Amino acid sequence: MTKLTMNEDLPFDETTTPPRVSTGDLPTAAEIQQLVTEAYELYRGDHSGTVADYIPVLAEASPDLFGIAVVGPRGRSFEIGDVAARFSIQSVSKPFVFALVCDAVGYEEARQRLGVNSTGFPFNSLMAVELNTERTMNPLVNAGAIATTSLAPGATADEKWASIRQRLSMFAGRELTMSEEVYTSESATNLRNQGIAHLLQSYGRLYFDPDEATDIYTRQCSLDVTVHDLAVMAATLANGGVNPVTGETVLRPGVCRRVLAVMASAGLYELSGDWLYQIGVPGKSGVSGGIVTVAPGKGGLATYSPPLDAAGNSIRGQLVTKYLSERLGLNLFASVPA
Ligand code: GLU
Repeated sequence: MTKLTMNEDLPFDETTTPPRVSTGDLPTAAEIQQLVTEAYELYRGDHSGTVADYIPVLAEASPDLFGIAVVGPRGRSFEIGDVAARFSIQSVSKPFVFALVCDAVGYEEARQRLGVNSTGFPFNSLMAVELNTERTMNPLVNAGAIATTSLAPGATADEKWASIRQRLSMFAGRELTMSEEVYTSESATNLRNQGIAHLLQSYGRLYFDPDEATDIYTRQCSLDVTVHDLAVMAATLANGGVNPVTGETVLRPGVCRRVLAVMASAGLYELSGDWLYQIGVPGKSGVSGGIVTVAPGKGGLATYSPPLDAAGNSIRGQLVTKYLSERLGLNLFASVPA
């Protein structure tokens, strides 16, 4: 396939250009709380979808678990349901690891080495690697994600893992730890990811030892989170890279907007176009049932509900996000005549 590439990034320096943004405010606290409650009540009775079982331990999750959290740009949170339930972050880790790699190597180099276009193939596709001369199409499906992990700061596997865990903890505003149970279960069954990593290495598109890169990637996917953690992580991306709860700067704003662009085009597996069409905001889902949604300047939304659609996206999570996106005014493409 011929390579089609847009020109190098426009010569725009966020450090010298005054901040101009295209977003407004969320409704009042009382309205947000009411809408979050409405969404929860409306969809808690939806039992469609299946819990992922290709990683054996994930199949043990109760399909009834259901939680919603919204964190605003000043750190206020609105939550309902199973907000204390812990689950492995899985693919929701991918945009955050991409973010820290952009911060380390520069977002333009990250684009060159990892790609930022959607694949149109399932998340663990080898065909997507074979059919595209760039090999990694974007950092949010497994091939690009393992390549992204291979670029994490650090000379050794331990250092790379430490830098990922530390930075994802900064996004969440608390120290995240790994679920040994998920890590063991996934490590015993991730032959496909090992295959992807070796295939990428054969094409010169992996930047660390393939077995070690896959192992660090599996650890990253096994980090334990709650829906509240995910909402804070999303709110940090919504807030130009500053965690609105801790006040800590996690990323430069210029990195943040690129991460959101990739989430908008590739965050919901091969249904990313449908998601953007219906919901109109960057998001990222994972096979354990989490979805993060980022409304730039307005805040982060996270949902947790394990039953998935065929592509691997939480069904209740999509319904809730659509409901709230419309009523909280999150859709980036919505405008009214002047
Ligand atoms: N660790 C999972 C895998 O590589 C992540 C999948 C996902 O959440 O999309 O299969």
